[in-house]
Amino acid sequence: MKTAVVDNKSVKIINRDIPKVNQNDVLVKMKTCGICGSDLEKVFGKYGMKSTRIGHEPAGEIIEIGENVKDFNTKDRVFIHHHVPCYSCHYCYNEDFTMCGKYQTSNIEPSGLSEYILVPEWNVLRGGLVKLPDNINFNQAALIEPIACCIRSLNKLDMKKADKVAIFGAGPTGLIHMILAKYYGASQIILVDINNFRLNFAKNIDPTITTINMTNNDNNNLDSLVFSKVGNIGVDISIIATSNLDALVQSLKITRRGGIISLFGVPSKDSDFKIDFNLIYSKELKIVPSYATSEKEIHQTITLLKNNIIDFEPLITHKFPLDNSFDALKYAHKAKDAMKIIITSSG
Ligand SMILES: [Zn+2]
Ligand SMILES: [Zn+2]
Repeated sequence: MKTAVVDNKSVKIINRDIPKVNQNDVLVKMKTCGICGSDLEKVFGKYGMKSTRIGHEPAGEIIEIGENVKDFNTKDRVFIHHHVPCYSCHYCYNEDFTMCGKYQTSNIEPSGLSEYILVPEWNVLRGGLVKLPDNINFNQAALIEPIACCIRSLNKLDMKKADKVAIFGAGPTGLIHMILAKYYGASQIILVDINNFRLNFAKNIDPTITTINMTNNDNNNLDSLVFSKVGNIGVDISIIATSNLDALVQSLKITRRGGIISLFGVPSKDSDFKIDFNLIYSKELKIVPSYATSEKEIHQTITLLKNNIIDFEPLITHKFPLDNSFDALKYAHKAKDAMKIIITSSG
């Protein structure tokens, strides 16, 4: 079977054996798998986590089950979560599921960008394999993981109705945050990026948002620009949906006193950045990182999709076959005219 592997700032497709299915494992034929910003970091940047596998947003159809598997059958359409916590450690008891040691080391075999994906016993027995409701198609299913990540980030912010929100980064997760923030009741949303295609794309989805292109504005006047839109208090919430840490510096200025900043985009490993801690202290700013997602938000996402509450599918602008995974990643990296890119299986 074919699988994509990272190879020195490139991605190649290699042939390998289909993984063996043990008693409690499930083998899934990949149908779709989203390309994530963290995949781009793994290929083109410096990623902090140990894994160099790419593709962790897969969905597909079960083609083989282990002899002891009871809850699934062949032909079931499923979403696969690659990381699954133990639910019985100190982190899990404190609901810091993504900090669980087992969460961070559990994985699917070999990766989401593969013809076939082995979902190991650990994941199968702990909610890491979820049957898709009939009305969620495989395109939408490839969006479940990133939507769930954004729901987790927003759940941590204690967002109130009528909050004013600034989002830095108009990529797929910036736009998912935008759509969700509106649904959660945000009264005003400011979206900041340097990419006109993406800002216009966002504006088409939600004409009520305010977009700011930073290439037309120097960093020094973003605050006055934002204040002119939302008032001198500033925004209640800033979401950093980019790995560019300049955005964090800007967010310290435009977030109101006592406000909250979500550190959602993946900063490069060893990021070393000068920020004014006095500003954080004197304004009582709360910086809340949000890494990945867990079962709870995955089920919240599936509920949103199943009930047709929000349609995220328009975010998908391009589909590439598995064989062209590297082209897909390069395209997503350039981001010239792309929003969400997904990989599809050949058959
Ligand atoms: Zn992701
Ligand atoms: Zn745990």
